[in-house]
Amino acid sequence: MGEPLAIDLANTVKLAVDPQLDLLGDDTRNAAFWSLERHRLPEPAGVPSLSESLALRSALQSLLSGIASGAAPEAWALERVNEVAQRTRVTTELVPAESSVTTKPRWQASDVADIALSAVALSAIDFLTGPNAGRLRVCAAPHCSMMFVAMNAKRRWCTANGCGNRERVARHSRQQ
Ligand SMILES: [Zn+2]
Repeated sequence: MGEPLAIDLANTVKLAVDPQLDLLGDDTRNAAFWSLERHRLPEPAGVPSLSESLALRSALQSLLSGIASGAAPEAWALERVNEVAQRTRVTTELVPAESSVTTKPRWQASDVADIALSAVALSAIDFLTGPNAGRLRVCAAPHCSMMFVAMNAKRRWCTANGCGNRERVARHSRQQ
């Protein structure tokens, strides 16, 4: 959590823990995920259904992990992300600010759940066309599919005390 929204959603399957953990494994977990991200979503975002969340997640996993490993993006994944992004109309409006005015984005959709989904799809578009796109990595630990933005070029693990630590222990025991 804390990566761009699109990466957070793609990272909701944790393969490197035993048993594997799917943070969107059922309706309750799906609601919990969206509630955790609530403060990062625009007003008036609603909670997407489990099936809509899973459909966007699979497209983001394909798109982001493909790009992180240098593969050409798959057409179906691009189409799905674009389609979800377009469900919401985002316009800019003027609002008062002290003695002047400032701008504020206004999000509109026929279903408020689409605002949450579109915000995630748009975060993928922003991220992949932004200055940090080249820093996207998949964790170097075997079996771990977690992705992150490596602001430090040397970073290889999703978490230093999770995968990073497991790898250090494994390397140490191989040397014995
Ligand atoms: Zn990892």
